[in-house]
Amino acid sequence: MQQSSLLTLLKHHFGYTHFRHNQQAIIENVLAGKDTMVLMPTGGGKSICYQLPALAFDGVTVVVSPLIALMKDQVDALKQNGIPAAFLNSSLSGSEQQNVIHMLRNGQLKLLYLAPERLVGEGNFMGLLSELNVSLFAIDEAHCISHWGHDFRQEYLALGQLKDRFPHTPVIALTATADGVTKQDILEKLNLRQYTVFENSFNRPNIFYGIRSKRNHYDQLLTYLGEHKEDSGIIYCLSRAATESLASDLQAEGFSAAAYHAGLERQVREERQERFLRDEVRIMVATIAFGMGINKSNVRFVVHVDLPKNIEGYYQETGRAGRDGLASEAILYFSAGDVFKMKRFALVEGNEAQSAIMLKKLEQMAGLAETRQCRRQYLLQYFGEDAPAHCGNCDNCLGQYERADGTIAAQKLLSAVYRLQGRFGLNYVVDFLRGSSTVRESHQEIKTYGIGKDVSKEQWKQYARELIQLGYLQQAAGEYPLLQLTDTSWQVLRGEDKVEFTVAAAGKEQPGGPAPT
Ligand code: ADP
Ligand code: ZN
Repeated sequence: MQQSSLLTLLKHHFGYTHFRHNQQAIIENVLAGKDTMVLMPTGGGKSICYQLPALAFDGVTVVVSPLIALMKDQVDALKQNGIPAAFLNSSLSGSEQQNVIHMLRNGQLKLLYLAPERLVGEGNFMGLLSELNVSLFAIDEAHCISHWGHDFRQEYLALGQLKDRFPHTPVIALTATADGVTKQDILEKLNLRQYTVFENSFNRPNIFYGIRSKRNHYDQLLTYLGEHKEDSGIIYCLSRAATESLASDLQAEGFSAAAYHAGLERQVREERQERFLRDEVRIMVATIAFGMGINKSNVRFVVHVDLPKNIEGYYQETGRAGRDGLASEAILYFSAGDVFKMKRFALVEGNEAQSAIMLKKLEQMAGLAETRQCRRQYLLQYFGEDAPAHCGNCDNCLGQYERADGTIAAQKLLSAVYRLQGRFGLNYVVDFLRGSSTVRESHQEIKTYGIGKDVSKEQWKQYARELIQLGYLQQAAGEYPLLQLTDTSWQVLRGEDKVEFTVAAAGKEQPGGPAPT
């Protein structure tokens, strides 16, 4: 298809004048009948990547999505644009479903949204589809197929059959959140062999990332909100109860705030959401149930008062700030105690392998909070992207720290880990270094015992975290993260690599203190 006619379709059906990011290249790949994988941050514009091909192709495009709650909105939006679309899920009555199937058989639909269980489960739906002209399968939220993702769904696994059953129908898999392993896994599980992967940068340059230590966070929050009196923002809390009590406390302080969580009546939720969208309520205090599918461009801050479970979630939630491209802030109140608390939520009952992955993701999230490296670089590296060491728009970059040679301290720490044969966790290694009498007697005979007396416990822990981030040290995945050497540890031990640690700059804030405004 000609470039100009793609643009014509875009303008005619969606009212947009340009393609965003690499939408056009993606669409061309799909229209050429090839399998495609798209990694694009939330709000980037993934839908067009299959909706526009759906219009250009003859038959029907089948969209698989786990978000049943959003299907109706998506279909309504398409219909408003004059595009014949429908969805099938458990929210429809029997006769409504029959009606959709009737339209499908008559070739009256361009797009059909389906829950994955519908496609592969009851009613031999694949059989029905094989009698029709299916032009494209779009797998939305494709990371749900991978155990390595943060949102694995059993029903998604069966989508691997699609390539066998419909070898000539192209597949487009889309996700906003896939790290390296997850990405590879999605391709394998979907049985895609000849494919092109399109990635967009996850960088959101207009968002400032700041982590503050959570001491008296209610007072900290009041100060923060006081400095952002005119702005609209979201405050994420872990529990439903916390959203309600925080919202009413804020109201009592005179702030325009409302609570939002999945336990509220649908009507109440919709009403509060509407008022937030219309700027009648400035601050939404919410659980992570809030935000999906909500497109408010002028959210100026997203605050987390509790630690997100993983970086995927953190990225998605903070990404709701600054959609309009203007300067916005993502603030997380962090305490080490929260990591401990969250471990409970990371455990997946009866599934040790999955629990280990969730724990690892939690550690990586905590790593973002603890790092003294550029936060943006850490985030982007997590998503497999190269990024400069200094972004200039996060608390760490804005000059709270300086770098200093730490090779000797690093050598001491690594040799302690070596002597302890990688069989102990961070606290034990630090006690060992500091010559604590609590370590085993046999360990007290080792030469390295007590060589780090001059450095505080906290400081050693910070060094260890930095060594982990630099790849010179690793924590074994699992409930008891043992410290172990890596392939590159010996380069430091042998003096081939120099290590730089970050230290608080003289006269500046201590780690985790209030971020600069
Ligand atoms: P995603 O699925 O990646 O989260 P959506 O497909 O929902 O994102 O798109 C996010 C927003 O961007 C929507 O409001 C959509 O209409 C808009 N959008 C998508 N593509 C374009 C474009 N080329 N020009 C302008 N707006 C666009
Ligand atoms: Zn930075």
